[in-house]
Amino acid sequence: MKNSSRRKFIISSATVGIGSMLATPAIGKLFAAQNSTAIINHIGFDQQPLGYAYNALEPSIDAMTMDIHYNKHAAAYCKNVKEAATAEGVDIKKPVEDVLANISKYSVKMRNNAGGHFNHELFWKSLTPKAGTQASEKLASAINKQFGSLEAFQKQFSDAAKGRFGSGWAWLLVNNDKKLVISSTPNQDNPLMDIAEVKGLPLVGLDVWEHAYYLKYQNKRADYIDGFWKILNWDFVSERFNTI
Ligand code: MN
Repeated sequence: MKNSSRRKFIISSATVGIGSMLATPAIGKLFAAQNSTAIINHIGFDQQPLGYAYNALEPSIDAMTMDIHYNKHAAAYCKNVKEAATAEGVDIKKPVEDVLANISKYSVKMRNNAGGHFNHELFWKSLTPKAGTQASEKLASAINKQFGSLEAFQKQFSDAAKGRFGSGWAWLLVNNDKKLVISSTPNQDNPLMDIAEVKGLPLVGLDVWEHAYYLKYQNKRADYIDGFWKILNWDFVSERFNTI
């Protein structure tokens, strides 16, 4: 990450404390150990601008899908989570991660839209038109240790994405034992939620709702997943892993 972007992350995180990132007590321990100036990719309640043009990820993701996905679907989750926050007394100056960690205490509207908003904000950041980004040495080593090889990891993650019945997400996350784990969730759930079967800090989330790929790929979800690997921003994923 360039220094200018690094500064932006720090500035955008300046209003929230590290403690508020904590999704679970166990993950809290991971964060408590880190340097307080470390980059924590908090996600707020506002929709952030895309870091690239709608057509920048072609041919993996076409411009019309990006436009509709960002401006209609993701914008709606953002609008709706703010409505739910107002109705349920949530301070929207705090990170949305705070709500996700206690999602069982909120409404279904909050669950669907806090999840939807967070998941998409993470998704946009994890994609890039830049070719050839690579996992940091630390992340590559953890992937090799956990999955055997990068290829084995990609296959297992792709299988999770293909195997999600209906709408949902595939995840690479760091669990409470600091291990990399692959999971998938239905709808707009995610691993930060207290109701998630597999909990932890998500590093990568792949949207496998049909709205993410249907215009270009129709029923061929597997081809969309193949395209995803070409635009995954390993620099971003590595930065996020470094916060552990
Ligand atoms: Mn989506």
